[in-house]
Amino acid sequence: MLVRLTYASRATQGVKGGDIRDILAISRRNNVRFNITGVLCFSHDTFLQCLEGGRDLVNQTYNHILGDKRHDRATLLDYREISSRRYRQWAMAYVSSLDHNRDLFLKYAEGTEFDPYALSSETVDLFLAELLEKAVFIDGPPV
Ligand code: FAD
Repeated sequence: MLVRLTYASRATQGVKGGDIRDILAISRRNNVRFNITGVLCFSHDTFLQCLEGGRDLVNQTYNHILGDKRHDRATLLDYREISSRRYRQWAMAYVSSLDHNRDLFLKYAEGTEFDPYALSSETVDLFLAELLEKAVFIDGPPV
């Protein structure tokens, strides 16, 4: 059975571009192994990540990620059973420079700032789906 889990978290102090590269590299390596697909967004010290795959593997991966000292304040925003994957081309897509997608925040949130904590489970799911279609910056080839 497939599920999609979405959460937000804050980068801890001192997390820099190099850390994001490390996180993406290890994510892509592990996620291929566990058949996890998804997307990671990072902007203004805030992470928004969506993981999809088998229920047990997604739950284990999320629990594993929660223990990572490079972020805190993790908040589960959405967890749902799905009939098919949305991000099947990506072991972990990466969207940065979210400032270029302010129109999408305005569409789904109260303001133009990237604040995933303010999104409901429904709006965060719609926001991510549209972001992946329109994002100006998606790093890394599909894997
Ligand atoms: P170690 O920490 O050395 O592994 C310890 C044990 O955990 C081993 O037995 C290993 O088999 C097991 N293990 C490793 N990876 C997983 C897993 N994914 N699920 C269950 N058990 C596991 N890491 C990811 O793998 N995927 C992500 O999508 C991901 N997203 C992240 C997003 C953010 C915002 C942050 C801060 C970190 C993210 N990470 C992700 C990194 C994660 O927190 C760990 O640093 C990383 O998984 C460590 O991998 P490792 O192979 O060094 O495992």
